[in-house]
Amino acid sequence: MLKNIHIILIGVALLIGLNAFINTVFSILATLVLMLSWIAFNVFSIKHSLFLKSICRIPTKEKTVFLSFDDGPSDRFTPRVLDTLNRNNIKALFFCIGKYAELYPELIHRISDEGHQIGNHTYSHTWQNAFNPSEVIEAEIKRSNDKLFNLLGYKTNLFRPPFGITNQSIAKALKVSGMCSIGWDIRSFDTIIKDPQKLISRICGKLRPGSIILLHDNMEITSLILDELIETIQKKGYKIVPLPEQ
Ligand SMILES: [Zn+2]
Repeated sequence: MLKNIHIILIGVALLIGLNAFINTVFSILATLVLMLSWIAFNVFSIKHSLFLKSICRIPTKEKTVFLSFDDGPSDRFTPRVLDTLNRNNIKALFFCIGKYAELYPELIHRISDEGHQIGNHTYSHTWQNAFNPSEVIEAEIKRSNDKLFNLLGYKTNLFRPPFGITNQSIAKALKVSGMCSIGWDIRSFDTIIKDPQKLISRICGKLRPGSIILLHDNMEITSLILDELIETIQKKGYKIVPLPEQ
């Protein structure tokens, strides 16, 4: 009987030990998942990033909004976007990729000559910059800034992080380069949504005073809906104005 009690006690001790072990492993895994989710949230959410403060909306009570176009210039669609903006007498903000500025210098001149603002969207717009050290990102920003300076004769201080990704290296590179990060509070998803009406409704359903709208001037759908988008925004009582100096 005494021998049996020993076995039962050892069994209970083993069960308690196993339970504690499983609880510890589970706690470690849960903590890891929470930490990774927190890092991912900060890296991918430009509005909530703790690494880098970006201007995602201009504080105002006026019904004014701002149009921004990323990823150009595109020889296929940027001219149509510019024609539409001109026809409607709207000034916008273009975050240009350095390698395309190099390919289409005449479009950079046209954007600037027609009164729009130009910002830096890195030279290569590569995913790798999410993992590159700050020196590499700094070089990317400088290469693009130099290109734009050579074409325009002035330096832009506006920067938009590709894919909205922010981290410590990007924050450091921007600080050293003296650049101001401009985000958005309305992501149009014009790179994904194929239905023009759905795209317009999505954007116009989210308008708030001071909203910065993210569009892409290298997307055909964006160039096609722009007239109607501007009309719908204006019908809702909003004015589309240039971004204030930063
Ligand atoms: Zn981009």
